[in-house]
Amino acid sequence: MLTGLQEAPSYLAAHRWRYALVEETAGEPFLYDEARAIGACGDWCLGARVEAAFDSGDGLGAAIAGRA
Ligand SMILES: Cc1cc2nc3c(=O)[nH]c(=O)nc-3n(C[C@H](O)[C@H](O)[C@H](O)COP(=O)(O)OP(=O)(O)OC[C@H]3O[C@@H](n4cnc5c(N)ncnc54)[C@H](O)[C@@H]3O)c2cc1C
Repeated sequence: MLTGLQEAPSYLAAHRWRYALVEETAGEPFLYDEARAIGACGDWCLGARVEAAFDSGDGLGAAIAGRA
């Protein structure tokens, strides 16, 4: 599990998000200018989903940490 937590949730529910706001993505998982040490990430890079926002932020974080 990504968080490392082992406890079972006391309540769990899921619902689909069908009303995405991003109409055109950046087409790249994140933007990062290493020389200027500035980056940008978000769902606008990959798509209007929390998964896209997570993947974008995770990718930029890895790039900043030198793991990309
Ligand atoms: C009503 C609604 C319901 C949704 N429900 C779902 C769902 O059920 N499932 C799903 O997968 N996705 C859902 N989404 C989409 C999901 O919320 C987004 O994909 C995700 O939150 C994007 O994350 P983000 O970090 O890119 O942007 P955001 O979550 O929008 O974060 C951007 C942050 O930047 C801050 N900010 C903005 N401008 C500035 C500034 N100038 N200076 C400093 N800070 C600033 C904002 O305050 C905000 O905290 C929903 C979206 C909406 C609008």
